[in-house]
Amino acid sequence: MVDMIIEPKIRGFICTTAHPDGCELHVQKQIDYVKSKPSLEDAPKCVLVVGASTGYGLASRIVAAFGGKASTIGIFFEREGSERKPASAGWYNSVVFEAAAEKEGLYAKSFNGDAFSNEIKREVIATIQKDLGQVDMIVYSLASPRRVDPVTGQIYKSVLKPTKSQFTDKNLNTDKKEIESVTIESATEEEIAQTIKVMGGEDWKMWIEALSEAGVLADNFQTVAYSYIGPKITWEIYTDGTIGHAKLDLEKTAQELNNQFGSGKAVISINKALVTQASSAIPVVPLYISILYKVMKSKGLHEKCVEQIYRLFADHLCSTDGSQFDEKGRIRIDNWEMREDVQAEVVRIWKEITTETIDELADFAGYQKEFYNLFGFDFPEIDYNKDTAPIRPIPSLLR
Ligand code: NAD
Repeated sequence: MVDMIIEPKIRGFICTTAHPDGCELHVQKQIDYVKSKPSLEDAPKCVLVVGASTGYGLASRIVAAFGGKASTIGIFFEREGSERKPASAGWYNSVVFEAAAEKEGLYAKSFNGDAFSNEIKREVIATIQKDLGQVDMIVYSLASPRRVDPVTGQIYKSVLKPTKSQFTDKNLNTDKKEIESVTIESATEEEIAQTIKVMGGEDWKMWIEALSEAGVLADNFQTVAYSYIGPKITWEIYTDGTIGHAKLDLEKTAQELNNQFGSGKAVISINKALVTQASSAIPVVPLYISILYKVMKSKGLHEKCVEQIYRLFADHLCSTDGSQFDEKGRIRIDNWEMREDVQAEVVRIWKEITTETIDELADFAGYQKEFYNLFGFDFPEIDYNKDTAPIRPIPSLLR
């Protein structure tokens, strides 16, 4: 097998390489965090995570497995490594997750393919029938730029645009570390509709219905999907933008699922803004997150995906003393981000910040480090000058 030196290759808001040893450390740190916390009581036993290899979905799989000793099935869309090119970060993350789960005697199987397709749904259901019988928790954590409709074959693409009017605001050019102005044209009706098709609730519902029809949903099952609201300064691009329309559709789907399967079965969790592969693609958000990190760290409130999701499970999904819902029935683990004192500080900095004051007023260094960490880079513990093996098999994909 060929070993190679793997360096970060940044293309705009994405890193096209990933470091397997760094990804291993990144996942191990999340597992260690969960194991340092009290284990979850009344935790789900058989958990399906759709979008399980990075960000909030990976954190959900880690919390369910290492916090609640759950058997997990994870679905994701990742690139395998070759002798010439490293795998994607989510691939390496899943290698590490499975190895760690096996060490603890925990069942873990993974599917690398298109979660929107009927084939994957059929394969996953057959595996549940064979290995687990039923699932009692389904975490829906997909973030995708496109979807092939499994019925018509039509391809839909999501866009990140405002919907009310053309939008101009401050933006952080993360390559140049400069605050610049960005202008984005308003989306067309067609673009809004396509974004809803990709990031709305249709596929979530298809999953739950397919699992139900196959008889693999436990009577006490629960399903959760993730959303974001954020403060007014991001609304034009997020909450009132194309993605916000898709998230409204997701909320509507939760209602429909509750009407169909019983109240409280489907919940929406509103999560904190964090650096992930999906969020770094949204204009304005990197600047907002850099400022937010500065403020939340100074108040001792900063959390990453795994801390957020541990709190979601411990205080809400597995809690018997009653989850705190907002007026629309949503779980709010963004409550610390949305605290009045936090947001007042963020808005003050937002108005003031310039290229010259980025380091003083925002935590761009923290933003960048977390971004690099997503791909296994910028960990002082790893020697990046050493050759490493890019080809790493995911154990369950071999069986
Ligand atoms: P992410 O990019 O880290 O993860 C996306 C996951 O989806 C990966 O596992 C990827 O492999 C998988 N995926 C993408 N397309 C797929 C396909 N066709 N088939 C199978 N798997 C596929 O994203 P994230 O930021 O963790 O986002 C997850 C959810 O959390 C999204 O709904 C997002 O809107 C929501 N959310 C994110 C934030 C944030 O700040 N990052 C905040 C609140 C809510």
